Amino acid sequence: MASRLPRYISRTSHEVQQRIEREPGACPVCSVVSDGIRRHIDALFYELVNDIQIREAIRKAGGFCRPHSQMVARQADALGTSLIFADVLGYELEGMDDGRFDRPPNTVGTVARILDGSVPGRAPCPLCREERGQADIAIDALLEGMRHEDFAAVYERSAGLCMPHFRIAFLRARDVAAWRRVLDVQQTTLNRLRGELQALALRFDYRNADETGGDESDSWKRALYLTAGWPEKQS
Ligand SMILES: [Zn+2]
Ligand SMILES: [Zn+2]
Repeated sequence: MASRLPRYISRTSHEVQQRIEREPGACPVCSVVSDGIRRHIDALFYELVNDIQIREAIRKAGGFCRPHSQMVARQADALGTSLIFADVLGYELEGMDDGRFDRPPNTVGTVARILDGSVPGRAPCPLCREERGQADIAIDALLEGMRHEDFAAVYERSAGLCMPHFRIAFLRARDVAAWRRVLDVQQTTLNRLRGELQALALRFDYRNADETGGDESDSWKRALYLTAGWPEKQS
């Protein structure tokens, strides 16, 4: 249902509200951010290809992380990608020419261990950083919206946020009462989803012949999305 832009909330809060109304079962921040990143990739490959600072950031990061490389592969054009990645490979080759890879660290006495799963010697993916900036803006708009009754009522009928965005919201919240309402929604969603997962597991346990199942049939997928973030809509 299209509602007019209320005077008391910001345009971004209103956009978040519209997304919650449209798809109350999915994290609205994931939805805002995946559209924003898609627009950013367009701008990057069609307009910002020659921006020196951006090229430098991509070079230092050695390209993009895997999920963002896949987005770029689906979306960007051959020319922009060729220009940017000729740079990235040139930078990697320079490092090899300079001897950066001559001696593996485990062969020089001390033992090198990577415990946190990060890729050694790489700056963070520039699109991950952009995504985080956009998520912060959308989360602030959501928290601001929660201070208004109409917005909060819509939010309370939704499934709340994915857990990564919920944690960021926790760190950014400044209004205790508004935060409590966000927390309430999150607890309700987690409780309900956990119940569905248990019901689904029971169905398998009893070798229940009824394959059609109830609402819980896709709860295992929703649990993956809730904990990691909602997938990008394929258009
Ligand atoms: Zn999310
Ligand atoms: Zn990334």
